[in-house]
Amino acid sequence: MNNKYILKSAVATMSLLVVACSDGDTTDGKVSSSASSTVVNGQADESNVSALALYTMDCGVIDISDLDSFSTIGDYKGVRDVFSDSCHLIRHPKGDLLWDVGLPEAMKADEPVVNGVYTITVKKTVTEQLAEINLTPDDIEYLSVSHNHFDHTGQPEAAGDALWLVHENEYQAMFGNEQTAAQFARFKDFKRKEFTGDYDVFGDGSVKILELPGHTPGHTALLVNLPESGPVMLSGDLFHRKESRELRRVPRFNTDEPQTHISMDKFDEMAKALGARVVIQHEPDDVNALPKFPKSLN
Ligand SMILES: [Zn+2]
Repeated sequence: MNNKYILKSAVATMSLLVVACSDGDTTDGKVSSSASSTVVNGQADESNVSALALYTMDCGVIDISDLDSFSTIGDYKGVRDVFSDSCHLIRHPKGDLLWDVGLPEAMKADEPVVNGVYTITVKKTVTEQLAEINLTPDDIEYLSVSHNHFDHTGQPEAAGDALWLVHENEYQAMFGNEQTAAQFARFKDFKRKEFTGDYDVFGDGSVKILELPGHTPGHTALLVNLPESGPVMLSGDLFHRKESRELRRVPRFNTDEPQTHISMDKFDEMAKALGARVVIQHEPDDVNALPKFPKSLN
C-alpha cells in the first residue's frame, strides 16, 4: 500500500521503538555469498521441522476509504476497500524464514489508528503469533520483505538476529538517503545477504525470492514449492487486489510503471506455467482461504 500518506505518522510511531542509528558506517553487516551459507542462528527448534510448511499470520487490516492512489488512470477515485496485511513463516528443515513483518507494533491498540483515508487495525504482533507455535524471534534464521513500505517492514524485531535477504536495489532504496535510513535503523542490525535476480533461499529450489521490480526498485515476490499443496506464489504488492491484477491497474506511487507491467506479466506467466496458487497479500479472499494460523499449508 501507499506509505506516502502515512509515512509521517509511521516514522513518528516507529521512533518510539527504535533508536536512530547515526554511526551506520562503522559496521556493515553484509555477508559474502560464501559466508551466507554458514550463518545459522537458533538451532533449538530445527529438529522438529521435517518438511516445508507455509504459515500465514494476521499482521493487520487496512480499511481504505478512497483507493484513488491505487490506479494511475483515476478509476478508483472514491472506491473503498479493505486490505489484509499478511505475514508469513516458512519452515524448512534447514531453517525458518519470515516473509514480510507487517505494520509497526506501535499501531497495536484497542482502537483502530486513523490517518487520512486509512483506518488500520493491528490485533497481534508477529512475535505473539510465533509464540503460539513455541517459537521466539531468536529461532528465525532468515528474514526477507517483499519491499520497504511500512506495512511490510513494521516489526523487524520479530526476526531476532536472522540473516536478512535483500535485493540490492531495495537495500539502496532504503539506505540511499538519511531520512529513509533513519526509518529503517533496526534493519541495520541484521547481517544481510544482498542479491540480484531471483534468490534460492535454501539452495534446493523449494523457496525462491522472485525479482519483480516496479512497485519499488527492488520489489520481490516469493515462490514456495510445498510438498503436498504444490507451488504457491506470494505476490508482495505487485498486485493489491484480485480485480486490479486482472485489469492491470498500477498504483500512482509505484516507482516504475512500465517495469511494473513487465513484472506483472512475468509473475502471471510463471504462475500459469507452474500451475501455482497465487496469494495476493492484501486480498482478504486469498489470505483467508489459507489455513488459519497456527495451522499451516503443507
Ligand atoms: Zn502493502
